[in-house]
Amino acid sequence: MKLQLYNSYSREKEQFKPIVEGQVGMYTCGPTVYDFSHIGNFRTFMFEDLLKRWLMHVGYDVKHIMNITDIDDKTIKRSRDEGVDLKTLTDLYTKYFINDLEWLKILPADNYPRATGSIDRMIDMIKVLIEKGHAYCEKDGSVYFKVNTFSRYGKLTNLKLNNQKSTKRINVDEYNKDSPHDFALWKGWKKEDGEAVWDAPWGKGRPGWHIECSAMSNEALGKHFDIHCGGVDNIFPHHENELAQSICANDGKFVNYWLHSEFLLVDGGKMSKSLKNFYTINDLKKEGFNPESVRYQLLSGHYRTKISFSLEKKLESEKLIRRLNDFNAMLLSNGANEIEHNQLPESYVEFSKAMNDDLNTPKALAVFFSWMKDQMKTLNTSHITADELGKSWNFMSIFNDIFAFIREDKLELPKNVKKLVNQRRIARGDKDWVLSDDLRNQIFKEGWLIEDTPDGQKVKKL
Ligand code: AMP
Ligand code: ZN
Repeated sequence: MKLQLYNSYSREKEQFKPIVEGQVGMYTCGPTVYDFSHIGNFRTFMFEDLLKRWLMHVGYDVKHIMNITDIDDKTIKRSRDEGVDLKTLTDLYTKYFINDLEWLKILPADNYPRATGSIDRMIDMIKVLIEKGHAYCEKDGSVYFKVNTFSRYGKLTNLKLNNQKSTKRINVDEYNKDSPHDFALWKGWKKEDGEAVWDAPWGKGRPGWHIECSAMSNEALGKHFDIHCGGVDNIFPHHENELAQSICANDGKFVNYWLHSEFLLVDGGKMSKSLKNFYTINDLKKEGFNPESVRYQLLSGHYRTKISFSLEKKLESEKLIRRLNDFNAMLLSNGANEIEHNQLPESYVEFSKAMNDDLNTPKALAVFFSWMKDQMKTLNTSHITADELGKSWNFMSIFNDIFAFIREDKLELPKNVKKLVNQRRIARGDKDWVLSDDLRNQIFKEGWLIEDTPDGQKVKKL
């Protein structure tokens, strides 16, 4: 099965075909850096990371751009409220954001352009939109996009525009789907904007949020690229507006596949600061979470369904992660990583089919964990062949490349200990308990403790 992705634009699963053979250009809307990102934001960023890891696994060379929104209504308001200049505020939260990404083992993007670094490109695009009659200037120096000049406006969101003649205007960055007004490309300077101001041919001011992503994606990936992602709340107005401006300014195609991840709920409900269920990565660290169990909670539901994050699920997800890490350690202690092998077990076919089916992670995880359970049983006996061990290691490695559930401090046994552990596994299979005890002592002298568990031998550093 070839890779199928659900395109929010067509509202269908489509076979993925890149513009250039073997390459993928992917733009993901990044954080608005006025505060710490929360676990909901990271659900979206982790879905995008999963998509990228899978694209890389199936052989694509992925160019991934994630912008940093360092100028919009929210950043300006926060900088004013805190009495801190905009750059100091946004630099600080960008730094925290990158640290959180690292902790969560999210692969870094190729570039993180900041909106304030692309103001010239935004002005150029707005100029073109005015010249082509898609935008108009107001007396206060603002420029608005005229939505009824673009017949496909509303297609991404499934909006009915009912041919509105009189154009109402809206100049806030976020607004409701029930009011598809002309929206601000450029916001004429107001006292509250302080020093967040740039000169433009129609007057000084600052860009609207939506034009920022049109300009940054254009600069980094060109006018037409493969994939654009975000959370579902980005569809309207942000992506609808981005799409309209980009197509009208560039007279051509913009994005081939729009992918959006559903919301993360907390304890089954909406996240909100007043309910104090608004977890940041720092909150989770304080609760004793490890990155792998957070990854498990965020990736175990399909990206297009709402999932709920809870502190109660911590133990359950940690148990699973521990079991997986034990399995990895068992493979290592049996020397699986040293066997040269280029094949995979049969279960991999089902696993990859699930991943190719619009990243069906619940199915893929179920396939992997069921295979792992059987493998653990087999490893308990002496009957596992080097061939099987090699295949198992290949599957385990691919799985970890995609999900990154193995802890960084995974057990790597020295070669001589590994050999002894392997000999002991065979001795136990042959029911040679004397040799088995002798090998246990030898392993102990090397500084390792071996335990016999229902899942086979486990080795711990003394
Ligand atoms: P923001 O920093 O508000 O611009 O959001 C960054 C990303 O997080 C966007 O792609 C949003 O769609 C996404 N996002 C915000 N809240 C949630 C949530 N509760 N669950 C999933 N994604 C979210
Ligand atoms: Zn964006």
